Amino acid sequence: MLEKTEPQTIAPQQFAEIERKHGANNYTILGDVVLSHGEGVWLYDTNGNRYLDCLSAYSAVSQGHCHPRILQAMIDQAQRLPLASRAFRNDQFAKFLLKLNEVTGFDKALPMNSGAEAIETALKLTRKWAYTRKGVPHNQAEIIVAQGNFHGRTTTIISFSTETAYREMFGPHTPGFTTVPYGDIEAIRRSITPNTAGILIEPIQGEGGVIVPPDGYMRAVRDICTKNNILFMADEIQVGLGRTGKMFAFEHENARPDILILGKALSGGFYPVSAICADTEIMDVFEPGDHGSTYGGNPLGAAVATEALNVIVDEHLAERAAELGEYYLERLAEIPSPYVKEVRGKGLLIGIEVNETAGGAHRFCLELQKRGILCKDTHKTVIRFAPPLVIDKETIDWTIPIVTEVLNMPQN
Ligand SMILES: *Cc1c(COP(=O)(O)O)cnc(C)c1O
Repeated sequence: MLEKTEPQTIAPQQFAEIERKHGANNYTILGDVVLSHGEGVWLYDTNGNRYLDCLSAYSAVSQGHCHPRILQAMIDQAQRLPLASRAFRNDQFAKFLLKLNEVTGFDKALPMNSGAEAIETALKLTRKWAYTRKGVPHNQAEIIVAQGNFHGRTTTIISFSTETAYREMFGPHTPGFTTVPYGDIEAIRRSITPNTAGILIEPIQGEGGVIVPPDGYMRAVRDICTKNNILFMADEIQVGLGRTGKMFAFEHENARPDILILGKALSGGFYPVSAICADTEIMDVFEPGDHGSTYGGNPLGAAVATEALNVIVDEHLAERAAELGEYYLERLAEIPSPYVKEVRGKGLLIGIEVNETAGGAHRFCLELQKRGILCKDTHKTVIRFAPPLVIDKETIDWTIPIVTEVLNMPQN
């Protein structure tokens, strides 16, 4: 058995001060918990206190913290060969491709590292497809995106963010993107021109505040794309791989995209692995030299991600999310509170939106933290509940009185 708590050379009360002094100030830290280890749905701080993780690193840890099978795959591969160049073949990459093919149903995959890199990869593939297959004039390709989107933090991706803080001071911005209201199919129709190459959509907007689009939206996007010869890119980095109660969120409406974008839970929290998946005729738009990444598809990442996918399948995590998600949403929706406006979500991605009198979602998250539940506010007014998919009913029940108490605390 591993010793779980590292011997501390820095006193826990010094962490905040050191980070303030020596770290970039690009994150707001919620509360003053200092985490040191995790197991399953639980996280532990340096004082030995236990917390239920209801953020799961934005769905990256759907399999639960330190999943023993993924851990073992990582250790084994780290001892053999963590990285070799993609210029040479390695014995883990093909296994990973076969697994992705089996799980997603797409012919081909192109692995990267972060989610943002996978989005960039999808955008490049879509643009080149437009120039070489659709006949869009050079440098004229347009891509439709949704208001309230979150696709990552690179300069091109923030160029089409509608969040002032993400975008405002980081121009000049990359052109070629058209923004439409999320969930509005007519707006997409009106925005299509002969130069439209693709549409990039999240099946549910997670960072946008757990926004579930109207029924039939994904299906309608699929149909519009087919009819107008446009590529449908589904960003399933947060909602894919079981989170919403299906392996992929697009399955709820049988709206198979042309390019499926995965990240986060693809490696179960151990190591950054992302990927885009597409069928041969689209993926073959890329030729040697068009794209690449030093770490993308490396043996360590491939071994970790293969096992992370095995765990999702073997432990029926999508089915668990469907069943427990429905139960959790019902239980949360029953909570009497003067501050709750709406409880919504799909599977184990649930948002509680608080109303104008609540004084924001942040204060509730702080109180939940004091009582052993780690949640983060998103979009100022939404408390997101997205625990690892290995959570059980008993643990869900344990949270209900705590959430009830906190949601009835007046502002002071
Ligand atoms: C997290 C996220 C990304 C970006 O992933 P990174 O690994 O942080 O670059 C993109 N899209 C969605 C929907 C996400 O939730």
